[in-house]
Amino acid sequence: MAIPLGINLSFCVKRWVTPDAWARIVREELGLGLVQLSFDLVDPTWPDDLLAEIASDTKAAAARYDLTIHSAFIGLAHYTFNQLLHPDPRVRDLGEAWLLRAYRFAALAGIPAVGGPLGAIAARPDGSAADAIPDADYRDLIARMHRLAAAAKAEGLTELYVEPTPLTREWPWTVDQAKRMAVDVAGAALPWKYCLDWGHGTFEPLYGRGRASMEPWFTALRAETGMIHLQQTDYQYDRHWDFTERGAVDPGAAAELIARSGLGDRPVFLEVFYPFERDDASVLAAVRASVQRIAPAFA
Ligand code: FE
Ligand code: MN
Repeated sequence: MAIPLGINLSFCVKRWVTPDAWARIVREELGLGLVQLSFDLVDPTWPDDLLAEIASDTKAAAARYDLTIHSAFIGLAHYTFNQLLHPDPRVRDLGEAWLLRAYRFAALAGIPAVGGPLGAIAARPDGSAADAIPDADYRDLIARMHRLAAAAKAEGLTELYVEPTPLTREWPWTVDQAKRMAVDVAGAALPWKYCLDWGHGTFEPLYGRGRASMEPWFTALRAETGMIHLQQTDYQYDRHWDFTERGAVDPGAAAELIARSGLGDRPVFLEVFYPFERDDASVLAAVRASVQRIAPAFA
């Protein structure tokens, strides 16, 4: 059975930034029909009239190149601001307002779902790490997730996603935390599902050598998993390499694990990042080669 394979537009950041440009590449250069938009290409805090125009261009480009835009993800730019777990509640409120605008843009562009990591608490002065974020912060996050789900539903979205990250200052970074969160948002207006990223669950410096693996996440969170982010990585950092690089991820074994875990119907998005200074032609060639390398395993 084929596993739906698509691509996150992370590789387009600062390069192919307009809908016509990325849509043509996804369809004609990569031969894919499934896309995940990144809010590194369009900032939902831009003025309404500009966002409306970009949303309409996005819709038109998707139709022209016969693409399904499955969802829109937060991206790296906004992720850097600690979002819904910033120590200052006013910044948390801005993070919440940012997501409301993201939902509105997605709805305008005909994109039914939005997701990404939700926030990070600040580091301690001495750099020591706690096992989990403080309970008050967790409860505040859950309250915000309930409000966000209601707002997303009012905009016409159908699903929201949390992407677990391998950082102890974020949530969730363990399977048990993800289970707890799923229970705590179970009554939300829209389903909150997980996006599981191959470079996150396999991060050995946090989870330990031999224990870092996607399998426990897939097994324990089968029902709660909405999609998967695929990348090449060495398990030592969250690399987001493409598959022209040497690493620990074998595309065939990855597809086999996904299918064996009962997740073969969930979309898998290749999510790769490149240094800004790398030349555009070599990025395009590497993404193309990468898709050619992994696509047969998911066909
Ligand atoms: Fe990811
Ligand atoms: Mn990642």
